[in-house]
Amino acid sequence: MNYDRLKDKLAILADAAKYDVSCSSSGGNRKNHNKGLGDSSVSGICHSYTEDGRCVSLLKILFTNHCIYDCAYCTSRRSHDTPRAAFTVEEVVDLTMQFYRRNYIEGLFLSSGIFKSPDYTMERLVRVAKELRTIHKFNGYIHLKTIPGASDELMQEAGLYADRLSVNMEIPTKSGLALLAPEKNHDDMKAPMKTVQEQIVVFKESRKQHKHAPKYTPAGQSTQFIVGATKETDLQIIRLSSHFYKQYDLKRVYYSGYVPMLTDSRLPAIGTPVPMVRENRLYQADWLMRFYGFEAEEILPSDSPFLDLDCDPKLAWAIRHRQHFPVNIQTAPYKMIVRIPGIGTRTAKKIVTARKFTTLTLDHLKQMGAAVNRAKYFIALRGRNEHLVHLTQDNFRQYILAQTQTKFKDERHGQLTLF
Ligand code: SF4
Repeated sequence: MNYDRLKDKLAILADAAKYDVSCSSSGGNRKNHNKGLGDSSVSGICHSYTEDGRCVSLLKILFTNHCIYDCAYCTSRRSHDTPRAAFTVEEVVDLTMQFYRRNYIEGLFLSSGIFKSPDYTMERLVRVAKELRTIHKFNGYIHLKTIPGASDELMQEAGLYADRLSVNMEIPTKSGLALLAPEKNHDDMKAPMKTVQEQIVVFKESRKQHKHAPKYTPAGQSTQFIVGATKETDLQIIRLSSHFYKQYDLKRVYYSGYVPMLTDSRLPAIGTPVPMVRENRLYQADWLMRFYGFEAEEILPSDSPFLDLDCDPKLAWAIRHRQHFPVNIQTAPYKMIVRIPGIGTRTAKKIVTARKFTTLTLDHLKQMGAAVNRAKYFIALRGRNEHLVHLTQDNFRQYILAQTQTKFKDERHGQLTLF
């Protein structure tokens, strides 16, 4: 193997992969019971970060950055003048094994531009995963990007070897996709998600009948949205996320603030700040939908479809719905307690248990992990809330924000520098 050439390819194809943020390995659980190499666990992978703060915990590469498509937002698009490279299946397998043995990585995140055809590309991605699992008995984490338009057979095979599969929607709205990637079609991109979801169900059923039936993509499927490349609203994004969680049983939706790297009149100009705070707020809204019982329309009303950048979406919801507060901490149902700003799901569970035995105080809540500087405006202890007495609907938001401002406020507009 020509290692100098391989190093060159690695530099190109690792760099091209860095804008894909959907590389979390959480959810993988593959034990080493075939006397193979390594294993991966649910809590597992150590993460490291590139200079711009993005996660590169896995060997995160493209198979190739050649592409027959010309999506405006993508550095691999065919019209972009950039160095190109393509690995062979053997090279990716060898790199993964070499890095894994040296403990540099705990798994592989493999995406690709589309060369020749979706099937031609997908077949190579599947071969990498298959060879790692069957020839090298590799038990580390494997995340494969699926290629929209690839055949169902290849999608089915991919899930037998990968822990997670994902298809990136990239642009959340149909109109945005038509503007920036007119060769693509939203519905075509949903088709692989449906195939994967159906296969997960089929294999789950067969494992009920046959204990040794194989698992199919055990860490589930995910997708990614680019945020800020087009004029979509936050409400459109979180509605779509909600739809995908419900319709396709997705494990994660990732949000990636658009990094202006390319000159194109359809895109934000180079130098436009990356919308990092917006990205963070979308993750918080996503969390509310997945773990706190919020619907997308509760988080954002249709007449105000952007997330408040000054406060997190739960606090923003509570400020808009002052009529629901203060909440009686001693008697309110769990689903309301968990909506109190400053109280998370774990603390809410502790409250529901502890209040059976005692009358709770702010000190109790603090010990249970509540952020009382925030929660104290929204709860009633012994039936009262003295903090609310002097607050009106008009000064409520202003006062709460002033009193609960995060210490990170001044850093919010920039990306952290790690090097
Ligand atoms: S198909 Fe994928 S790799 Fe190709 S230009 Fe579009 S986003 Fe980039």
